[in-house]
Amino acid sequence: MDRSKLTRAIVLAMFAGFCLGSIIHWAEPAPGGIIETFFVAGLFDVGGQVFIASLKLLVVPLVFVSLVCGASNLAGNQNMGLIGLKTVGLYLTTTALAIVMALGVANLVNPGLGINLAETSSFTAKESPSLVQVIVNIFPSNPIKAMAEGNMLQVIVFAILLGIAMTRSGRHGQQLSESMARWNEVIMQLVLMLMQVAPIGVFCLMVTLFAKLGYSAINDLIAYFLCVLLVLLLHFFVTYSVLLRLLVGVNPLTFYKRMLPVMAFGFSTSSSGATLPVTLETVENRIGVKKSISSFVIPLGATINMDGTAIMQGVATVFIAQAFNVEIGLTGYLMVILTATMASVGTAGVPGVGLITLALVLTQVGLPVEGIALIIGVDRLLDMSRTVVNVVGDATVASVVARSEGVFDETIFLDAEAGRVAPAEAGKA
Ligand code: ASP
Repeated sequence: MDRSKLTRAIVLAMFAGFCLGSIIHWAEPAPGGIIETFFVAGLFDVGGQVFIASLKLLVVPLVFVSLVCGASNLAGNQNMGLIGLKTVGLYLTTTALAIVMALGVANLVNPGLGINLAETSSFTAKESPSLVQVIVNIFPSNPIKAMAEGNMLQVIVFAILLGIAMTRSGRHGQQLSESMARWNEVIMQLVLMLMQVAPIGVFCLMVTLFAKLGYSAINDLIAYFLCVLLVLLLHFFVTYSVLLRLLVGVNPLTFYKRMLPVMAFGFSTSSSGATLPVTLETVENRIGVKKSISSFVIPLGATINMDGTAIMQGVATVFIAQAFNVEIGLTGYLMVILTATMASVGTAGVPGVGLITLALVLTQVGLPVEGIALIIGVDRLLDMSRTVVNVVGDATVASVVARSEGVFDETIFLDAEAGRVAPAEAGKA
């Protein structure tokens, strides 16, 4: 299937899955019915899980191989340290900006006023990592263990060091680096193959999600729910558009259009980690960011950059403070900005983790962690939406860094046909 047909098919599949799932939920609201048992929990759930497993399968090999290639290319470049600083700086700044916006809007909307705490269900918080742990965890002691556990930050650190060492190892290093580049092509081919079945996978995921998703919780939390959505939209359409216009010099709408498959993957999987192979492929072949930058910036972003998650955490903190009648104060807000930015670094790109690291933010400002029980009912839908913002944020920063290094290929960006490579031809290109 060619590229634009594939994009259309993925978006259509997403919509069709949403409709069918909602119809099933409407026809059979309680679990245990025939459709639920045989079709949702049987056919569609299995299809969706196989699809997610195949995506995750690609993440560790792809990040490892592509980053070793990227780092060994960059190691010859004087600017390597500067590129790293720029990337991390941009990720942290956009995240901090997202939280400031979340705190500002939440204080205008006041989503937590009038919440009846008596109706709160109990919540046992999973232990969230401390800030010290977050920092120490970046450095691997066992690379195989890091890969087996899918600890992406550690895999990233190991791959970068290995790539740099390869460049410094003369002829042998050069040979290894060339074979890594070949591996990279093969793994990218796997990504392209998987994308061909993406419409079926996305359809299965959406049917399962919406057949099981109850909307009743949204009624009680409508102000919180809409407030998070509003800030997500603002950050998406204002912050990213401004960055794309001013720092990349491209039309944001064209950018979003090229990113549609990535957004559909992010929305239906709720995981920036699982979406990573598609983000990488799209950013390189459809947006025009050179491999030397994307292979470093995108995996790092999928691991440490979570603007959408930070937005949810900002609004949730204000909401919980209001519901529990606690005054946070200016120092408290500054603390929220700092800890939510760090929490976003420590949040793994998998579904629902943002809610766990929210405990870290709440504890830092002295709010009860049990407050998470208040918002858990609507978190699934918000998780899907914030993951879209998380992955688009990674692609935006990658484009800014690429442009600043003079390796943003505008001909690819402007070419509506770009990236329409049939799987069999991709490897020869
Ligand atoms: N699901 C989000 C992601 O993978 C993380 C979160 O907010 O829970 O990007």
